[in-house]
Amino acid sequence: MNIKDFKIKNHSITIFRRIFQIIAFFIINYLILEIIFAINLIGLEGLLKVLPILNSARNPLSNSTGIIEIIFYSFTAGIIPIFLIGVFIIIILFTNRFFCGWICPIGTIQDACAAVPTKKRTVKISGGILNHKSLLKIKYIIVVFILLLVVPLAIIATINWPFYIEYRANLGDFGDNPLSYFSLSEFIFVFFPDLIRQIIETRSIAPIFSNLIVFIISIFYIALLVLSVWYPRLYCRYICPFAAVSSVVSEYSFLKLSRSPVKCVGRAECGICEKVCPKQIRILDEPFEFFTGKGECNLCLKCKEACPYKAIDIKIG
Ligand code: SF4
Ligand code: SF4
Repeated sequence: MNIKDFKIKNHSITIFRRIFQIIAFFIINYLILEIIFAINLIGLEGLLKVLPILNSARNPLSNSTGIIEIIFYSFTAGIIPIFLIGVFIIIILFTNRFFCGWICPIGTIQDACAAVPTKKRTVKISGGILNHKSLLKIKYIIVVFILLLVVPLAIIATINWPFYIEYRANLGDFGDNPLSYFSLSEFIFVFFPDLIRQIIETRSIAPIFSNLIVFIISIFYIALLVLSVWYPRLYCRYICPFAAVSSVVSEYSFLKLSRSPVKCVGRAECGICEKVCPKQIRILDEPFEFFTGKGECNLCLKCKEACPYKAIDIKIG
């Protein structure tokens, strides 16, 4: 098969996923609907509060973010969040990273960037310092770094409260919201709207430069979103703390993909699945029985949709 001539004929999975993502986007960010349609959806608040993964946008703990942010925040609050960690592990065991591919609003925003019709590019797999394999490690380094800061807080809180107060105060922003600088959702749904409000209220652009660190990180995230037009899901691949933590559990999930050794004709003959994968997963280097791309697969099913030989299937169990 000539890959250059190849065109995906059936887009039904992608169309269904797009609709699902848009609906999920507005459910999670239902405050946007209130603004657009001038309605009050406070009745949804109770539902969202009891589902930790859909944390209420009005909950002061959430800052419009999700379960991982609350787990990390719990550590800084002096609590070891065993229940939430258990909920998180069970969700990933049963649904793998379906959330990333089908629900996460930040994933949806990146997919919208990638929907701009440009020739998609790939980060070189190895060689040099900045390659796909080395960049993948960034998100794990971020998570380990934050865990090293916040887990001792939860332990210290149980044995020496005055020291805990002092330690937490010394952590500054990390003590109040440990993932804030690494959370693109924090920037898109909390920081940017707040900044725009300040600019409108003060009628000046001075608020943009009031915090140099936040300004630099904002530029970084804007650049990341722009680059996502050519390199899909850049934030998910290399920065996202949720991706880092969930990829560790993903290998053990009951929901995965498999590739038929009978139907698949391999990279030399085809390799289309790898070309369309937004996470740049080397699908053909993975075992036939099941693959998760070492936890990177977000179950977007683009590879399944594109495979001309119908060699990729969903595997349960
Ligand atoms: S899984 Fe499908 S798309 Fe990928 S190489 Fe095999 S036949 Fe081609
Ligand atoms: S391996 Fe397939 S399902 Fe997983 S991210 Fe890549 S294209 Fe999507």
